[in-house]
Amino acid sequence: MKRGTSEFDLIQRHFTRPAPSAVLGVGDDAALLRVAPGMELAVSTDMLVSDTHFFPDADPFLLGHKTLAVNLSDMAAMGAQPRWVLLSLALPEACESWLERFSAGFFALAEPHGVELVGGDTTRGPLNLCVTIMGEVPQGAALRRDGAKIGDDIWLSGTLGAAALALAHRQGTVRLPPADFAACAAALYQPLPRVALGLALRGVAHSAIDISDGLLADLGHILESSGIGAEIAFDALSVSTAVRSLLSRGSGEVARRCILAGGDDYELCFTAPVIHRAAVEAISARLNLPLTRIGSAVAGSGCIVRGPDGGAIHLEKSGYDHFR
Ligand code: ADP
Ligand code: MG
Repeated sequence: MKRGTSEFDLIQRHFTRPAPSAVLGVGDDAALLRVAPGMELAVSTDMLVSDTHFFPDADPFLLGHKTLAVNLSDMAAMGAQPRWVLLSLALPEACESWLERFSAGFFALAEPHGVELVGGDTTRGPLNLCVTIMGEVPQGAALRRDGAKIGDDIWLSGTLGAAALALAHRQGTVRLPPADFAACAAALYQPLPRVALGLALRGVAHSAIDISDGLLADLGHILESSGIGAEIAFDALSVSTAVRSLLSRGSGEVARRCILAGGDDYELCFTAPVIHRAAVEAISARLNLPLTRIGSAVAGSGCIVRGPDGGAIHLEKSGYDHFR
């Protein structure tokens, strides 16, 4: 840490907020939490590493937002109500202005979700941001990856491809008109986790996952865990405007990759029985969130993506994998 700023000052200034729903929050050797009777604790952790998950010059406010957003998204995908978080930081230096912006972005998203920061760890090292999140879900009601059934409809929230397209632009793979980049950048830097949708899908969906590594990779996890296959229609996928215009400008392969294998969208993909179609549509109307039926679960394994002519579309890589 920088001389004059102790680790404890820094935690006190930037990361100590009231946590009224915890028995004990930041400041002791451990936080104390009480789970409501009849509830299960959903626990998940996600780490953001400089250069791998964000550019080293990233706006700290947006980074604070995204560090929490990706974790809220995991709660959404389980149908869990997010409650508490732990925040572990490795920082190259104790830069006050950076920490102020980072914590402002973090709490700006935490507060409307009723999520309380109850602890963490702060150490010097290459910039690394790690959140552990805990949420509550009624016993047996979690939306698991292994619950999909043959015949289920497959649904997707929002639109796909914008975050991956913004990243491709920053990496120089494509050149977007400035307005298109601005539209996509919001998806990359400030994703909105679908927490309300996850909660609404309890008792309606058979399975769910959030799209962090690309639709085919993430839907693939549901299929594998559930021991089934899927057929989806490429034309049914709801895609962001910039991705659609790229498709029409003839950069079809890049656009298809953003849509089918692009990461960082944080939309929910879920399966639900056909009898729940009206219920899903009612949720879409109530949350003012487009939910699109993109295909169905079938016997077998793997996912077939049908093009407009009925033929299968093939991609080289189905999603992001840190070790491939
Ligand atoms: P210990 O030495 O027991 O590991 P620390 O000195 O690491 O304790 O942390 C002191 C207190 O501050 C603990 O309650 C810990 O949970 C909390 N804390 C440390 N870093 C953070 C952070 N980045 N955000 C929130 N709480 C933190
Ligand atoms: Mg510690």
